[in-house]
Parts: sequence; C-alpha cells; structure tokens
Amino acid sequence: MDLIPTFESNLRVMTHSDLISIAEQAEGPVYVYDAAKIQSQYQRLVNAFSGVEKLKINYACKALSNVSVLKLMQNMGSGLDTVSIQEVLLGLRAGFKPADIIFTPNGVSLEEIETVAEMGVQINIDNLSILEQFGTKHPNVPVCIRINPHVMAGGNSNISVGHIDSKFGISIHQIPHVLRIVENTNMRINGVHMHTGSDILDIEVFLHASEILFNTALQFKDLSFIDFGSGFKVPYREGDIETNIEELGEKLSQRFKAFCETYGRPLELAFEPGKFLVSQAGYFLTKVNAVKQTTSTVFAQVDSGFNHLIRPMLYNSYHEIVNISNPEGKERFYTVVGYICETDTFGSNRKIAEISEGDIMAFHNAGAYCFAMASNYNSRYRPAEVLWHEGEAHLIRKQENFEDLMQNQILVDFKDKIEA
Ligand SMILES: *Cc1c(COP(=O)(O)O)cnc(C)c1O
Repeated sequence: MDLIPTFESNLRVMTHSDLISIAEQAEGPVYVYDAAKIQSQYQRLVNAFSGVEKLKINYACKALSNVSVLKLMQNMGSGLDTVSIQEVLLGLRAGFKPADIIFTPNGVSLEEIETVAEMGVQINIDNLSILEQFGTKHPNVPVCIRINPHVMAGGNSNISVGHIDSKFGISIHQIPHVLRIVENTNMRINGVHMHTGSDILDIEVFLHASEILFNTALQFKDLSFIDFGSGFKVPYREGDIETNIEELGEKLSQRFKAFCETYGRPLELAFEPGKFLVSQAGYFLTKVNAVKQTTSTVFAQVDSGFNHLIRPMLYNSYHEIVNISNPEGKERFYTVVGYICETDTFGSNRKIAEISEGDIMAFHNAGAYCFAMASNYNSRYRPAEVLWHEGEAHLIRKQENFEDLMQNQILVDFKDKIEA
C-alpha cells in the first residue's frame, strides 16, 4: 500500500496532533519538515544583514537535499551551495538557474569540476594543483577560491574545518602561490570564500577569521563577491548557545561596508547555511516497538536506528526526544534505542513523558544531516519525507519498498557445491 500523496489536515500551524496523524498515515518512520520554520530562518538571516547592499544566501543542500525542499528555497530567492555534481543536477531539476548555484567541492576530480563549469555554475576551488590545471585550460571561466584562515571555530575537530591540518581550503600562507598561478594563467578570481566549521560559538572568532578573508580579498582586483560560508549554530536543547545572527549581522555588515569602501566598489556578501535553515524545521517520527526493563535502565526501542538518523552515534549529537502520544504524561527516565543489530543509542537516560508501546516519539532538530545521511543498513527501507506547508502535509518522498532494495542488485547463482 502506498502513502497518499497529500495528507489531510485543516490546521495552519503544525501541532503534535498533526504529527501524530502524519505518523499514523505513514507505514514506518517518517521525516516531517515545517516549511514555515525554514522560511522564518531565511527571513531572519535576510533581516540581520539588511544593512548590506548585495546579500546572497546559498542554501548548503547537503544538509537536506529533497528536491521539494530545494524548490521551497528557490521560491524564497535563495541560491544553492553544492558539493557534488549530483547536487548540482538536483538543483537544476528543482529549477535553480546555473548562475544561482555555487559548486564548493573538496577532493573531486578536475573532470567533475569542468563538467559543472560547462553548465554555467560558479566554481569554487580549494586546491592549488586543481586551480593551476583549471586556470591553464579555462582562463576565461572566473573562479572563486576557498581559503583556509587557520582559525579554530567550534570545539569538535571533525566538524571544524578551518584548522591547520584540515583538508579543506587553500592555506592563507599559500596566497603568493595563488597569485603566481593567476598571473601565469591569466585566469580571473571573482570570489574568495571560507567555511571554517560547523559551530560558530563565538562571534569574535568568526569576525577574526573574516578579517583574514578581507586581507586575502584585497589581493584580488576582480572580485564580485566574498563568501563567508556557514557554521551558524542552532540550539539542540534548552540552554544551548546559538549563534547570535542579529549581532553577527550588525557587526559584519558594518565591517563589510567599510571593506567595500577600501576595495573601491560594493561587492556581494554571500553565506551558505545548511543547518541554520533546516535543522529546527525537522521532526523524525518513530513508533515504540517495545519497552524493555533491564537491570540498569528502561529501554524504549523504536522502529528505526542509526540507519535513519546517525548523528547521535556518529557525532554524539543531542536530539530532543518527545513522546507526542502522551505529552502530559508523568516524566520517567528512558534510554531510547533503535532496532539495528548493534548498539544504536539515540539518547541515554532521558527524562521523557511515560512511554507505552505504540507511542510516537518525535526527534527534534531532524532537518539537517538526518535523512541526508540515512542508509539501508540491516536492509531497512529509508523513510518517507513530508513537507508541512500552510496547514497541509505533502508527501515529498515515499518510503522505499522491497523493489527499491533490490534495485541494481544482481542475483548471480554460481551453483557451487560444497562437498560434505
Ligand atoms: C556543509 C557546508 C556548509 C553548511 O554548513 P552548516 O553547518 O550546515 O551550515 C556550508 N558550506 C560548505 C562548503 C559546506 O561544506
């Protein structure tokens, strides 16, 4: 049985009961995204930088790449930040113009970069060897360069990509070499870019990195934009520090305007947020299969696992878990785990309203890097996705089925017999 493409509801604002009704209509765990939250985050960023003459927000679509979400972004006026040719193709399919897409890959082949450049997409290069080869072959295609300012943003070295040993970006100490390549090839650098990591906790650190980017920018005379990447932190639980976008907007806008005066003309200020735009808009709905008492805890086992939401196991990320079937219930302590045949803990020792088997658990902050990282491990289907838009739930991805699982597998029977 297939899910019906449009779920029924008359409410404008998404409530617990809307989520439950969606969960009941789904055949398994389901991701739900609230379009209004995505739109308000986008608007917040635009407002924070309203003092800047030319602002460009390029949604980093690796966070959540469903084409309907991309379409929503495009309708808001967003551009797209992509890291693979496949993301570029998805963006084009969603209706983005090539000129509104920037390609910021790391470690991909020169051929992939050339193919994307031929489509008219803005190229961002983060490697001297590729820069020289690309510039030699295509001196007329303007490129952006990604620099590594060697500023440590955030605490986790897996998600902080600006430090000295990072594989990302061209070191600022190598700018003389970049200038040599530009001179030798006659290529044009039209943008400078940095993306320092995934968690900006301290605005002063970010502004410090920005100064390094400004200093770099002054070395290139043909710029049309400066791209400050992303790393905006959103709260995952009560009391979490979140990037103060409004304060950042005020301080960076002022500094940017002063820079443009020094530079001699107004440039475009670009950002490429992923998590900031979609994280809080997402809810992952799962059903409790079993409540299991052990000698040390009470497990609530849901019909999902790290095959669908890997962040807690991969990054030790915290996702709020709410029992939306019994929100007013007495709170008790649970360890919420999945059904995968190895350890797949979603949350240890959490205070959650009393859980009964069959209850629906909603995981919060499930918009960014959740479905996007889902797999078929344990031969499970990847879940459905629903976009909640103006009071209506729209199915934007069906749950997979057995045919999907078999797709591209080739059953070869060699008829080899093992002698008894
Ligand atoms: C992943 C990525 C982003 C988005 O990072 P968030 O923390 O999700 O905002 C932006 N730019 C580049 C180059 C990226 O690789």
